[in-house]
Amino acid sequence: MKTDVFISGGGIGGLTLALKLVQRGVKVVLAERQIKAPATYKGELLQPKSMKIFDDLGLFEKVHARANEIKVLDMLELSSSLKVLDQSFMDYSVLPGKYSASYMMPHEELKGLMLQLASTYQHFHYLSGSICKGFTKQAALLQRGKEQFEVEADYFFGAEGRSSITRKEMGIEVKQTTYNHHFLTVTFPRDEKFTDGQIVSTYNRFLGLFPLPDGKVRSVYLIPQGDYKQLKEKPISHFHKLYTDLAPVVDGYVQKLTDWKEIQLMIPVMFHAPSYVKENKAIIGDAAHAVHPMAGEGMNMAIQDADILGELTADMLESGKTDPANLTWYEKVRYRRADHVLQLSHLAALAYSFPFKPVSFIRKRTFERMEEDPILHFKQMLNVSGLGMWKENFHDRFIQGGLMPIRSKNLPTDLKELKYFTREDDYPWKVEGLL
Ligand SMILES: Cc1cc2nc3c(=O)[nH]c(=O)nc-3n(C[C@H](O)[C@H](O)[C@H](O)COP(=O)(O)OP(=O)(O)OC[C@H]3O[C@@H](n4cnc5c(N)ncnc54)[C@H](O)[C@@H]3O)c2cc1C
Repeated sequence: MKTDVFISGGGIGGLTLALKLVQRGVKVVLAERQIKAPATYKGELLQPKSMKIFDDLGLFEKVHARANEIKVLDMLELSSSLKVLDQSFMDYSVLPGKYSASYMMPHEELKGLMLQLASTYQHFHYLSGSICKGFTKQAALLQRGKEQFEVEADYFFGAEGRSSITRKEMGIEVKQTTYNHHFLTVTFPRDEKFTDGQIVSTYNRFLGLFPLPDGKVRSVYLIPQGDYKQLKEKPISHFHKLYTDLAPVVDGYVQKLTDWKEIQLMIPVMFHAPSYVKENKAIIGDAAHAVHPMAGEGMNMAIQDADILGELTADMLESGKTDPANLTWYEKVRYRRADHVLQLSHLAALAYSFPFKPVSFIRKRTFERMEEDPILHFKQMLNVSGLGMWKENFHDRFIQGGLMPIRSKNLPTDLKELKYFTREDDYPWKVEGLL
């Protein structure tokens, strides 16, 4: 079998990349080792930039129609006696334009939508149940059941998630950071009026609630590393109480979970591969970087990688400038952005990692001031959204720390929009003569 591009891994990243390429007329073979949708939870929060990318792919309306829109994340800090000490909001509507909300959509359903659309193109070949085992110079080595076969291609892209065979083949090593906490994660029914996100914390507890469509809510509850085994030995009512203590809104709903087996353990890790490209191979998504789930970015980073790499590869093939060295444009655009998101998510994780009252006090004050200072609020939402990148400076940190007064003047819409990535920022090689 021969193709233009071979993609190993049909997760969100691989499917976005495939869709992008086939829509530009590029021949794609995608190998996915799974046959059926796995039962494990994965990222479900779509940030604004992902919605923009889906719009360009003709998926916005479908996702919008199926997903639960989240405009506001309600952040509640409670006292030890569970009284509300502080409430602040992360509000997506500070972002001007069409993409001013996040969306929750079941992970496998989203993948289904993408696969369905990609499959309408005759030059797309999806090999389900096919494991990529390695590579020769011009071919991927695959195994489906007992059958072994090769796919020849001009470019090989690894989208296999954290344990990437393509990354290994490229000789790229990653250094993983682990955390002192894990998460319990589970989806269960919710009140139909509960549609915005909620993050509830005390000095030593954390619960995130993210409403999905169809009257469901995905939850993440922080536990100290190593506590899972002991917890599971307690009656399930103990789990219910952990939730209802912090979020009365789930009372009467979380009790629908009757067995610990329904609740999964999620182990956060962070790594960033030192490079994404080698010769005619590149890695995207979790193969290139794993991000702490606190800011809901993992799936979005995979989508954003796929958008840039897909556009670049299609341009290279269309213009005949097929030298694999041109693939480094992808790394030039994405590396800095991904690194910033990894750092932001890591900082957010640290803010909830240490079960001490002074840490919770600093966190409370930081969120309060972020909400009150319109520029800080915009920066935070912009960085989380993926629509742009505007790093915090010393002035911002002093305001957050309470050492300088908050700014009361908001930025006008046109100045905010100037902070969005432009087409030239996303696809700089399109400038005449650069590719
Ligand atoms: C267990 C888990 C839970 C997570 N939960 C959250 C969360 O709650 N919130 C959040 O924001 N993010 C979460 N994430 C992160 C988020 O889901 C990922 O960042 C996102 O799915 C990355 O997409 P991807 O396409 O790069 O990789 P993946 O989604 O991991 O997809 C990789 C695909 O490649 C396939 N594959 C692997 N090896 C091969 C091979 N050799 N040959 C062929 N196919 C192969 C796999 O079967 C899989 O379908 C979670 C990740 C994991 C692993």
